[in-house]
Amino acid sequence: MPAMSNQLSVKSAEGHHTCPLCGETGESANDVYVHLQLNHRKSELSEALVDAAE
Ligand SMILES: [Zn+2]
Repeated sequence: MPAMSNQLSVKSAEGHHTCPLCGETGESANDVYVHLQLNHRKSELSEALVDAAE
């Protein structure tokens, strides 16, 4: 599993992973990672990472 997927998903109390950009949930970090690849552009991901780092 790519390390990036761990940075880009938020694990909820229910055990689901949530897209940091739109709130879409997946059962695993990889599900959210795939969702990000399909539904969001790389520039959006970069901005989310910058926001998370600030
Ligand atoms: Zn999303």
